[in-house]
Amino acid sequence: MKFETMTIHAGERPDRTFGAISVPIYQTSTFAFEDVGETRGYDYSRTANPTRKVLEDTIAQLEGGQAGFAFATGMAAEATVIHLLKAGDHIISGDDVYGGTYRLFQDVMGDCGLEFTLLRMDSRQKIEQAIKPNTKMLWVETPSNPLLNIVDIEMVVDIARKYNLLTVMDNTFATPYLLRPIEYGVDIVVHSTTKYLNGHCDVVSGAVVTTTDELTERIQFLLNALGTCASPFDCWLVLRGIETLPVRMKQHEENAAAVANYLVGHPAVKRVFYPGLISHPGYEIAKRQMKGFGGMVSFEFKQGVESVNSFLRRITVFALAESLGGGASLAEHPATMSHASMPEDSRQKGGITDGLIRLSIGLENIDDLIDDLGQALEPC
Ligand SMILES: *Cc1c(COP(=O)(O)O)cnc(C)c1O
Repeated sequence: MKFETMTIHAGERPDRTFGAISVPIYQTSTFAFEDVGETRGYDYSRTANPTRKVLEDTIAQLEGGQAGFAFATGMAAEATVIHLLKAGDHIISGDDVYGGTYRLFQDVMGDCGLEFTLLRMDSRQKIEQAIKPNTKMLWVETPSNPLLNIVDIEMVVDIARKYNLLTVMDNTFATPYLLRPIEYGVDIVVHSTTKYLNGHCDVVSGAVVTTTDELTERIQFLLNALGTCASPFDCWLVLRGIETLPVRMKQHEENAAAVANYLVGHPAVKRVFYPGLISHPGYEIAKRQMKGFGGMVSFEFKQGVESVNSFLRRITVFALAESLGGGASLAEHPATMSHASMPEDSRQKGGITDGLIRLSIGLENIDDLIDDLGQALEPC
């Protein structure tokens, strides 16, 4: 099956019982046994649930992996994956990862004895120099949030193989429609399906895709042991969202490219971050490893804080809100919103300045989006 067909037909569809085309919501905690010691494949919904199973099989197929797992949130997915490691292990990751990922690493797992080195993953030498005898994992996010930095996945996988490290990639921003990390040799893909995969700003959820028997078994064990799984209703919403992923991503990208080009020429704007701009440092790598450049655009004001507040108060089509990946366009201020959990010096070091705005470009008519940006930028 081709990608677009998989989004609609992957997993057990139509449903086995009555042929329902829309996957039924098995809103049940428990399942009757057929006989003593004999189930029909399900016994308790924390362990497995038929609605969740269709979503898990669908995401696994879309990513080209072995097995998929659906979680209550993206952070629940990440927290589960990080439990593959144990106290004393060392992880290398980007210095511009999602704020919640940073918080999980530094403020939670650090206290559990995991060690982290966060750096800009843009050179083989930098990554190799950070590798220690206890390094176990390379954790990659590309395009990164909010600066849309691009990491060369082939390079990361090459280093990981040389030093026998596990690679994890957060594929939330690109989605498997634009980037399939497993094809490059990544071991584990994680998602906040809250974003593009669901695509309607009406659910928080996450996913993991594995590539080997060992990882599949261990993630299934951890999901059940930690109880981080998604609810049947949320799985149903994400399944419904995924059916339109390809058409949505095309339109997000078309709109985002137009917004990026508009902002590049604007006198109030100092810099625009969009991997589809030839001026973007990751443009060549993004072009090589991705099928498109996605729907996120960030930009920096020349004037900093005053312009930020004025702009955020004036937007009307764009909503001032965190998150991304839905039909509605959103604008947010990483320094005080999505990345507020990152200490100031780490933020500055990572390039997340106080004058930075992140836009999630939605599916509205492009003229309305540009008009809104234009009037909001006018006094800046
Ligand atoms: C939102 C996000 C997460 C966390 O996901 P939740 O569903 O909010 O828990 C992780 N990684 C990235 C890149 C994200 O954008």
